[in-house]
Amino acid sequence: MELHDQRNLDLPQKARLNTSGTPPTIGLVVPCYNEEEVLAETSRRLLELLAQMHGEGLVAADSSVFYIDDGSRDRTWALIEELSTKNPNICGIKLSCNRGHQNALMAGLLVAPGDALISVDADLQDDLDVIPAMVKALRGGDDIIYGVRRKRTADTFFKRFTAEGYYKLLAAMGVQIIFNHADYRLMSRRTLEALREYKEVNLFLRGLMPLLGYRTSTVEYDRAERFAGESKYPLGKMLALAWQGVTSFSTYPLRLITGIGTVISLVSLALASWAMITRLFTNEALPGWASTVIPMYFLGGVQLLSLGVIGEYVAKIYNETKGRPRFHIDVLEGEAFRRNRHSS
Ligand code: UDP
Ligand code: MG
Repeated sequence: MELHDQRNLDLPQKARLNTSGTPPTIGLVVPCYNEEEVLAETSRRLLELLAQMHGEGLVAADSSVFYIDDGSRDRTWALIEELSTKNPNICGIKLSCNRGHQNALMAGLLVAPGDALISVDADLQDDLDVIPAMVKALRGGDDIIYGVRRKRTADTFFKRFTAEGYYKLLAAMGVQIIFNHADYRLMSRRTLEALREYKEVNLFLRGLMPLLGYRTSTVEYDRAERFAGESKYPLGKMLALAWQGVTSFSTYPLRLITGIGTVISLVSLALASWAMITRLFTNEALPGWASTVIPMYFLGGVQLLSLGVIGEYVAKIYNETKGRPRFHIDVLEGEAFRRNRHSS
C-alpha cells in the first residue's frame, strides 16, 4: 500500500488520495441564497444520505454538510446556525454579502475541509441518489465526477432549448464543456487544491473543470423540480452567467470582428474593381457613386479589422491577467521524487 501511494505522488501537498483503504471524509457544499423554506428538509435528506453511506462503509463518520450563506436577507443564516449547533455534521460559512452562486460555491470549495467535496444546490433539484456512485468512482481513482442531466423533463421548453443550444454554442466556439453538466459534481482534494491556483474573479466553474485535467467520469441523473421556494436564478442572472461562460473562455467573438472586418474590406475592394470596370468599359457608371459608397464600406471594413486586431491584444492581456496555472502534474515517478517526498 505504501509503495502504491508513493507511486501516485503528485506534488507533496497534492498527493493522490489513498482511497482504497479507509473511507474518505466527504463534504457536501451547498450555496444558499434566501433558502429558509428548504433548509430543514434539505438538511434532513443530506444527513440521512451521509448516515446511510457511512453505514455502508463508503464515507467517514465526520463527513459533513457545508452551507454557504450567500448574503441572504431572510432567516437562512439563523437556521444554519441553529442546525449546526444541533448537529456536528452541519457547518456554516457566511459570506459578508451576496456575491452570486459561482462565488459562493467557490468559497465553499476553497474553505471546506475533506478528502473530496460535492457541490449540490440547496433546493435538491439534483438527484441525491447518484452521490454513492460518485463516491465509489472517487474510490476507484477518479478525481472529478460530473453529474450530467439525462433528460430535462422538469424544465420548461424554453429553458431546455436555450440551455442545450448554449452548450452547443460554447462547444462550437472551442470551449471545452461537459454537455448538460451544471454545478453538480464531486471534486477530489487534489483537484480542489489545483482549483485554488485559478485566480480569476469572473468565475464560470464548469468551464474550469476540464482545464484541471485529471481523471474524470460522469454519472447521469434526472433533474427534479425545486421542492419549495422559487428559483434564485432569474433570467437576468442566467444570461449574465451565460455571457460569463463565453467571455471567460473564448476569444471567438473578437475573432469574429476580425473576420467580418476582413470580409467587408475584401468585398469593398472587389466593388472598387467592379466600379472601375463599369466606368472604363460601359456607359452605365453613375457619377459620384463609387467615390461615395466604396470608401464607406472600405473604411468600415478597415475599422472593424483594426478593432479585431486590438481585440486580439486585449484578449492576450486578459488571459495573462487571469494568471491561470499553465499545468497540473498528475503523477511524479522515480526515486528522486520519492526522496524529495520524505525530506519535505
Ligand atoms: N444561489 C446563491 N446565490 C445567488 C443565487 C443562487 O448561492 O445569488 C444558490 C441557491 O440558493 C441555490 C443554487 O444557487 O442553492 C441554485 O439556485 P436556484 O436553484 O435558484 O437556480 P435554478 O435551479 O433555478 O437554476
Ligand atoms: Mg434550483
